[in-house]
Amino acid sequence: MNALKNTPFDVIIVGSGPGAASVTHELSRFGKRILILEKGSGDKIKGTPLQGASFALIPGKSLLFTQELLALVRGIVYGGSSVLYYACAFDPPYEMFDSHGIDLRPEVEQTKNELPIAPLSDDLVGPAAKRIMESAQALGHPWHKIPKIVYQERCRLNCDKCTMGCPYDAKWTSRMYIDEALGRGSHLITGSHVKRIVTDTGSANAVEFTKAGRTHHVSAPVIVLAAGGIGTPLILRNSGIGGAGYDFFFDPLIVAMGEVDDVSCGKEFPMAAGYWDVDEGYVMTDLVWPGWIFSIFAAEVLRFDRLASHRRTLPIMIKVKDGLSGHLTSRGIVCKRLDKEDRRKLLRGYECAKRILQNAGAHHIFKTWFMATHPGGTAKIGDLVDGNLKTRLSNLYVCDCSVIPESWGLPPTLTLIALGKRLGRHLATESGLLS
Ligand SMILES: Cc1cc2nc3c(=O)[nH]c(=O)nc-3n(C[C@H](O)[C@H](O)[C@H](O)COP(=O)(O)OP(=O)(O)OC[C@H]3O[C@@H](n4cnc5c(N)ncnc54)[C@H](O)[C@@H]3O)c2cc1C
Repeated sequence: MNALKNTPFDVIIVGSGPGAASVTHELSRFGKRILILEKGSGDKIKGTPLQGASFALIPGKSLLFTQELLALVRGIVYGGSSVLYYACAFDPPYEMFDSHGIDLRPEVEQTKNELPIAPLSDDLVGPAAKRIMESAQALGHPWHKIPKIVYQERCRLNCDKCTMGCPYDAKWTSRMYIDEALGRGSHLITGSHVKRIVTDTGSANAVEFTKAGRTHHVSAPVIVLAAGGIGTPLILRNSGIGGAGYDFFFDPLIVAMGEVDDVSCGKEFPMAAGYWDVDEGYVMTDLVWPGWIFSIFAAEVLRFDRLASHRRTLPIMIKVKDGLSGHLTSRGIVCKRLDKEDRRKLLRGYECAKRILQNAGAHHIFKTWFMATHPGGTAKIGDLVDGNLKTRLSNLYVCDCSVIPESWGLPPTLTLIALGKRLGRHLATESGLLS
């Protein structure tokens, strides 16, 4: 904490997910001194169930439930949800951003040149993913391998650690960008829970946060909130910026599971392949979880008869683009119901997944309860932030899933990296806020 007293910072970034990491990385290239405040722990990733659960499955903190018991998972840890994600890299829907005067193509191009983005090599596509892909293709679906942000030479075969955090640094996470920035003189304080921004006549004066039970204040010419689709709107509201945390998306999903008699699987890179049905409004992919997570979701829908079948189960995830609705309470409770159309799309996807599973020879097919992993749209571009991601306070910006302006339905990480690069460049060269 001495760094707070001794170092003048140019920028304070709140959070350390992909949005935070990308803007930090870009600003550090311009020689800016950055302080990152992250609520979660900075422990080295071990990839164990216990550690993974401590990042993602603490009720009320990382694991949130709606009134319909839909489970919303986010990572509260250094690296944010990228520690838990499956590294799928989908291009942004460019037209959505074009209509707000934001051209993300150059930044996406730059990211693709910088990071290892490619479909998994055939030997890293596991037996369940292969079997599902063959079955889907035989039925005429354009099922194909998905581009991933992965250092594939570091990947292990027969490994199920992606879900708990990759201890081999194979999966790109936002830690990698921030670690580079730390090497260039940036500073990270983990375990620091940002409560609010102290404001003064149209600008942000200081960040108020607690660490180990003590309250601290720290200032810089520019402050960027990147605490994710749930964390950021709460900080905005506590800082007197109303309107955050309403009419959002969370990309609900279910997983269809079926048992086959002639495949031995259970440990492989999830979401290796899939397809996106634009007309029907859903994305489908394979999704092999570690055995203990499979057991939780099977038990949740009372399929205790399936608990012993994990190593013979083919799982297909169906994720849909939900309508904008709902609100967050001031304590961060997620109030949002799936509407009829969202449910219909999920069930249509389930029927399609069932046909793929049956064609693959699966029996005892069932589906999980609803869950979600991409909350966003809680501080939208064109509403609470402008095209440069600036709030109505002259030096307060937002750079995370919150700013996505419309219904979504896609893995957002590549989009957030591009938005972060664009914001970093803007702040360093055009905003006039940093000398
Ligand atoms: C299981 C799973 C699989 C996924 N798979 C993919 C995938 O394959 N591809 C893809 O593109 N996306 C995937 N995602 C989604 C993706 O990981 C997230 O959308 C992305 O990480 C969101 O980035 P963000 O910067 O908005 O916030 P986050 O990554 O959520 O980061 C927010 C950070 O802010 C911190 N924070 C929160 N509140 C505070 C506070 N008050 N003070 C200080 N810090 C705070 C959190 O601890 C966290 O580190 C997946 C997500 C999950 C959970």
